[in-house]
Amino acid sequence: INLQKATFTISAPDIRSLPAEGGIEVAFAGRSNAGKSSALNTLTRQKSLARTSKTPGRTQLINVFEIAENKRLVDLPGYGFAKVPMEMKKKWQKALGEYLEKRESLKGLVVLMDIRHPLKDLDMDLIQWAADCNLPVLALLTKADKLKQGKRNSEVLQVRKKLAALNADIQVLAFSSLKRTGVEQANNVICQWFED
Ligand code: GDP
Repeated sequence: INLQKATFTISAPDIRSLPAEGGIEVAFAGRSNAGKSSALNTLTRQKSLARTSKTPGRTQLINVFEIAENKRLVDLPGYGFAKVPMEMKKKWQKALGEYLEKRESLKGLVVLMDIRHPLKDLDMDLIQWAADCNLPVLALLTKADKLKQGKRNSEVLQVRKKLAALNADIQVLAFSSLKRTGVEQANNVICQWFED
C-alpha cells in the first residue's frame, strides 16, 4: 500500500453519495484548523490533494481519495467551528455523525489535534466513541514544530497517559507537516490498517 497513489474520487454532502460499502476506509477527523488537510497532503505527498485553510462551510463535505482498489482515505468535515450559529453547525455536522455511526467500511480513524491544545471536549467525545466501538485510533498531535523538543515530548506523554485510561487501540504521535515529523510512523500505522 502506497498512500502516494491517492487520487480524488468524490466530495459527498452525505453518506448516500459515497462509493458503495466494501473494502477499507481510513478516515481523518479533527477540529477545524487542526491541520487535517495539511496532514493528508503530507502523507500522500501531494501538494493540494486536500485543500488547506478553507473557509468553514466549504469544508463540510466528505472527501474521498482512492489509494488502491477498495482502499480509501476519507477526509471528514472539520468540527468545532467558533463563529458559526448552532443551527448551521448541526446541519453541517450531520454528515460527520452519519459517516462515523453508519459506515461499515471504516476500519481506522486518524484524529488530528493541535499539539498546543489537544483533547478538547469534542476530540475526547470522538476518541471515546471510537474506543467504545473498538475502532483503532491514531492521534496525530499536529504542528509539533511549534513547540520545543522538551515541551513537545511532554505533551505527547501526557496525551498518551490520558488516552491509555480508555484501554483501547490508540496510538499517539507528534506530527508536523512543515518539518515532516512523524510522517513515516503515521504512514506505517495507516498502511497496516489497510493491510489487515
Ligand atoms: P484543517 O482545517 O484541519 O484542514 O487545517 P489546515 O491543514 O488547513 O491547516 C490550518 C492552518 O495550520 C494553516 O494555516 C496551515 O498552514 C497550518 N498548519 C498545518 N500544519 C502545520 C504544521 O505542521 N506546522 C505549522 N507550523 N503549521 C501548520
